[in-house]
Amino acid sequence: MVHKTEALFRDDAYLKEAEAAVVAINDRGGVVLDRTIFYATSGGQPGDTGLLERADGSRVAIAATITGETKDEIIHVPAPGQAVPTIGERLKLAIDWQRRHLLMRMHAACHLLTVVCPFPITGAAVSVDDSRVDFDIPDAGFTKEDVTARLMELVRADHPIFTRLITDQELAANPGLVKSKNVRPPVGTGNIRLVCIGDNASIDSQPCGGTHVRSTGEVGEIHIGKIEKKGRENRRFRIRFGPMPAI
Ligand SMILES: [Zn+2]
Repeated sequence: MVHKTEALFRDDAYLKEAEAAVVAINDRGGVVLDRTIFYATSGGQPGDTGLLERADGSRVAIAATITGETKDEIIHVPAPGQAVPTIGERLKLAIDWQRRHLLMRMHAACHLLTVVCPFPITGAAVSVDDSRVDFDIPDAGFTKEDVTARLMELVRADHPIFTRLITDQELAANPGLVKSKNVRPPVGTGNIRLVCIGDNASIDSQPCGGTHVRSTGEVGEIHIGKIEKKGRENRRFRIRFGPMPAI
């Protein structure tokens, strides 16, 4: 049976704690809850880690969060050797906020990179200290110094980042919103979630189900660590935190 987990992080990426009930335990001990603040690995963003606290105060460490048979079912994977809660049990949830916030900053930084480099995206992966976005371009014609300077202009301008829902029809009427070359946003559910940057989305908007910080200023200082050639028509940009190291 497939369960639909209410994804609280979609409406509020800043929820660090919540309460939920266990609705299922899968055959590998994965915990399915009625609702969760744990983001499940998808769209290049890794799933959350954290803790589930039982009524007696004991804690179950969650090592990974993944989706089940459908994207609506979120499975909390306990670390090895953890006790498995029982169906119906109420739990307190806490994500590893420090890690998640780094991922939110990095994920937003990837969106900023697609503003600076408006080319078709062939892949992306967010991590806490180094993220990458692959573009389908024969030659970037950019230096990492130029791209870093333009990214930091967007960061310093402190533009708002927010989400809004559009219908499948609105998306179909605006195909330019989709920057990913290989991955199409899921249609058929009625609504598509757009992540928008700038007042009235003046800087950017694109379909995305991930978690992001509230403003470009919150991304903080970032730089392009490397621009790698990955084949004749592919360039991989690596984003890192902090100032560009002096060589
Ligand atoms: Zn995103």
